[in-house]
Amino acid sequence: MFELTEAQQMVQQAARSYAQKSLAPVAAALDREARFPRAQLRELAELGLMGVNVPEELGGAQAGAVSYVLAMMEIAQGCASTAVTMAVNNMVAETLVRFGTPEQKRRYVPEITSGRFAAASYALSEPHSGSDAASLRTSARRDGDDWVLNGSKQWITSGDQAGVIIVWARTGVAGSKGISCFLVEGGARGLHVGKHEDKMGLRASSTVPLTFEDLRLPAAALLGAPGQGFHIAMAALDGGRVGIAAQAVGIGEAALAAAVRYARDRQAFGQPIANYQAIRFMIADCATELDAARLLVLRAAGLKEAGQPFTREASMAKVFASEKANKACDVGVQIHGGYGYLDEFPAERHYRDARVTTIYEGTSEVQRFVIAREVLKD
Ligand SMILES: Cc1cc2nc3c(=O)[nH]c(=O)nc-3n(C[C@H](O)[C@H](O)[C@H](O)COP(=O)(O)OP(=O)(O)OC[C@H]3O[C@@H](n4cnc5c(N)ncnc54)[C@H](O)[C@@H]3O)c2cc1C
Repeated sequence: MFELTEAQQMVQQAARSYAQKSLAPVAAALDREARFPRAQLRELAELGLMGVNVPEELGGAQAGAVSYVLAMMEIAQGCASTAVTMAVNNMVAETLVRFGTPEQKRRYVPEITSGRFAAASYALSEPHSGSDAASLRTSARRDGDDWVLNGSKQWITSGDQAGVIIVWARTGVAGSKGISCFLVEGGARGLHVGKHEDKMGLRASSTVPLTFEDLRLPAAALLGAPGQGFHIAMAALDGGRVGIAAQAVGIGEAALAAAVRYARDRQAFGQPIANYQAIRFMIADCATELDAARLLVLRAAGLKEAGQPFTREASMAKVFASEKANKACDVGVQIHGGYGYLDEFPAERHYRDARVTTIYEGTSEVQRFVIAREVLKD
C-alpha cells in the first residue's frame, strides 16, 4: 500500500539528503539566532522544492501533491523553521496557479519557484480574527479602476521577506461573501511591516504584523472575482493543512529519532535506558502514532493529486499529525531527562517547534468542527 513511484522516491531522496546534510547541522544555530534561512531557501528552490506541485512551465517541479508532502516531511526533520517557510511559499504558488490570471501567474509564480523571491506570504489573520476569518476588517474600496487597501494583518509568516503577499480584504457585505483577495508586492507604498514576533519556536521563520495605509492597487491586483476571496482562502488552506500535517510528522519523527539515539546511549541502573519497558512503550506508541499520521497525510495528498474532495481528510491529517507530533516531542524531552530541558540537545527545540502546529492554518478545534461538519453531512 502507498508504493511510491520512482519520481516520488527521487523527490523524497533529494529532500532527505538536503535536510540531513545541509539543514540539520545548522537548525540549532538558525533557531538560536532567529536567522531567516535565506541561503537555504535558495538551495531548496534549486532542488525544485519551492513549487513541487506547480507546472514546469511556471518553473515548478510538477511532481504532484504526494511528492510535496514527502519532501515536506523530510525538510521538517532537518529544520522546522525552513519547512514552514517552504510550506507557505508552495501554498501561495499553488493558489496563484489555481486562481491567477495568465499575467498574474507569469509575473509571480516563477519568482517564487526560482527562489528569486526570498518568500511569499498568505495574509488572512488579523489582530482580532484568526479562526473567525470571515469577520476580517481590512477593507479595499474602489477608486476609479484602482483599489485602496486599509487595515492590518497579524502573524504573517515571511511578511517582511515576501516578494508577493496574498491579502484578504472586505469589499462588500459583512461575513464570508463580502471578502476579496489581492496581490500586494513586497515594498509596496503604503505597506508597513511591524516588529518581528518573538516566538516560542520556529524562531528562524519570520512572523510579522502588516499594516496597509491607503495602499493603492491596480484592478489587475485582484485575485479571482470580487467576493470569491473566502472561497480562495479555504481552498488554499485545504492544501496548506496537508502541508502542515506533513511538517508535524517531520518534527515528530526528528524528535523520536533523537529520543531513540539518546535511549540507546544513556545508562541508568547499569544499562541503557532503552532496555526499560517504560521507555520502550513510549517509543512504541510514538512510532505507531507517527506512522498513522504519515498515512493520513499521504491519503489526503493522494486525494488532492487525484482531483477528489479532500477537505475532511486534510483536517483529519492536520489534527491527528499535529497532536501526535506534540506528544512525540513531549516524550522526546521526557526520555532525555534533565538534558531534554537544555538547548544542548535538539529535544527542546523540537518541542517548541511542534507546539504551533495545532494552532496555525486552523486550530485543532477548528479542524474538529470541519471534520464533524463533513461527517454529519454524509
Ligand atoms: C507562528 C505563526 C504563524 C502564522 N502564520 C500565519 C500566516 O502566514 N498567515 C495568516 O493569515 N495567519 C497566520 N497565523 C495565524 C494563525 O492561523 C491563527 O493564530 C490561528 O488561526 C488561530 O487564530 P487566533 O490566534 O486568532 O485564535 P482564536 O481564533 O482567537 O482562538 C483562540 C482559541 O479559541 C478557540 N476557538 C475559536 N473559535 C472557536 C469555536 N467556534 N469553537 C471552539 N473553540 C474555538 C481556538 O481553537 C483557540 O483555542 C500564524 C500564527 C502563528 C502563531
